[in-house]
Amino acid sequence: MAEKIQCLIIGSGPAGYTAAIYAARADLKPVVYEGLQPGGQLTITTEIDNFPGYPEGINGTEMMEDLKKQAQRFGTDVRMGMITTVDFSQRPFKIIADGKHEILADAVIIATGASARWLGIESEAKFNGAGVSACATCDGFFYRGKEVAIVGGGDTAAEEATYLSKLCSKVTMIIRRDELRASKAMQQKVFDTPNIEVLWNHVTKEIVGDQTVNGVIVENVKTGETKRVNISGFFVAIGHKPNTDLFKGQLDMDENNYLITAPNSTKTNIEGVFAAGDVQDHIFRQAITAAGSGCMAAIETERFLSNVSQTH
Ligand code: NDP
Repeated sequence: MAEKIQCLIIGSGPAGYTAAIYAARADLKPVVYEGLQPGGQLTITTEIDNFPGYPEGINGTEMMEDLKKQAQRFGTDVRMGMITTVDFSQRPFKIIADGKHEILADAVIIATGASARWLGIESEAKFNGAGVSACATCDGFFYRGKEVAIVGGGDTAAEEATYLSKLCSKVTMIIRRDELRASKAMQQKVFDTPNIEVLWNHVTKEIVGDQTVNGVIVENVKTGETKRVNISGFFVAIGHKPNTDLFKGQLDMDENNYLITAPNSTKTNIEGVFAAGDVQDHIFRQAITAAGSGCMAAIETERFLSNVSQTH
């Protein structure tokens, strides 16, 4: 027989656990399915220095453990496992976990996050967390006064390069074509910043170093020439992929497959299904903003469930 759940939360990053804390305190008896990467993207970053409440900074994995414990303290049922199928066509929603466990959920909060896209070269994985990062806002601070490189030519890369230029002595942007994809305004900011150098028509061949990164080998795709650029940090900003495959055809998404939520709300196009965190936010993508929207989702879920119970 299918298990009945009032509030199902899919995902265990800051959005999922904050939603769980609020939902548990509102007595919605939330169940969290942790997903493929328990704790989410923060567990693959290093130190987190910009989450309020940790004056000395905190390790990402520890912070997520704290959030999990806080959610459990109020009775959240946290489960290892994946949601593998959803059917939002009727309420209660029909959900399948791990390919076999049937769930009937009155409300669902989607907090499945997004994953950074990586170049996919071996040395990138080798130095991940030791000089390679996919988040300048998180890790730029560690490279104050040093030279860094960033790959990608979209708005994110342009914004992050500008951000890094204020902290670092020099930023080299590695661009695979002869133009940036970023908006004209962002491009202009890049071109107006004296310590950003753009390497047009270049691709990354290898990131090199000992314990940590000390250089990158790039290749000019027009001439085939390679050269070494000395750097201490290598940032990848070639886009993110929201984890929304499961919801295709059921929930409204934008052209990049991020879930669309109503303005100032976490409501999706299906009543009773809410979305919080990076899965619906391609702009801010911070732990604190994800946590904030997780809180919103739980409050909106509570209101939704109390309206539903009043009408029955
Ligand atoms: P984008 O998809 O817009 O850009 C990705 C960039 O990475 C492109 O320049 C692309 O090159 C490059 N790239 C992709 N794969 C590789 C690779 N393997 N090697 C080298 N370069 C690669 O992603 P963004 O994260 O920048 O932006 C996502 C969305 O969010 C966009 O719609 C953007 O406008 C929006 N955004 C808006 C902001 C704002 O309004 N303030 C801030 C940040 C993002 P190529 O161009 O050659 O394909």
